[in-house]
Amino acid sequence: MSKLKVRYYPDPVLKASNKKITMFDKSVRKLAQDMLDTMYENDGVGLAAPQVGVSKRMMVIDVNAGSEEHPRRPIVFINPVILSQEGEMTGQEGCLSFPGVYFEVRRARKVVVKYQNLNGQELKIEAENNLLCRAIQHEMDHLDGELFIDKAVSAIQRDLEMAKQGLGEGDVIELETQLKEEAGQTINISKSKSMVS
Ligand SMILES: [Zn+2]
Repeated sequence: MSKLKVRYYPDPVLKASNKKITMFDKSVRKLAQDMLDTMYENDGVGLAAPQVGVSKRMMVIDVNAGSEEHPRRPIVFINPVILSQEGEMTGQEGCLSFPGVYFEVRRARKVVVKYQNLNGQELKIEAENNLLCRAIQHEMDHLDGELFIDKAVSAIQRDLEMAKQGLGEGDVIELETQLKEEAGQTINISKSKSMVS
């Protein structure tokens, strides 16, 4: 078991471009195993290679991570591509590169994705309105150097949660006041299971 160092925002590696994997050798299998170990260790349900400082198009997801009732079900995605997406859903997300920061994020409701497994074999997966669907989109964004802070339902809620963890420029008291004002004007945000990846 080997644990890797998680890179935290604003580490530039999170914004770097990530290379396609073309050789399906021992080193790729080792990276996948190390990423899974690191994800489980940090109580995440997903992790992308750039989050451990590796600029490659690989990500791992296990929506059963941390569950007592369900056995682990890791999926390793290599070179994933979205074939189609539709609809919209919102729900709370976290990110291992932003410890302690959670806010509502807007995602597609359904995605169909193709990817390669550790043998280089091409597979297809479909996910709709569930944690897997959300995790796939969150991790694929990492592979494109994109972060969940750019998909927040409410910029004020995001800035507040960032400020609480000492990130960003915002002032906690000021943002709390603004958030209350915003909540008074909009339909309240649904509560759902949070996800860290
Ligand atoms: Zn993340």
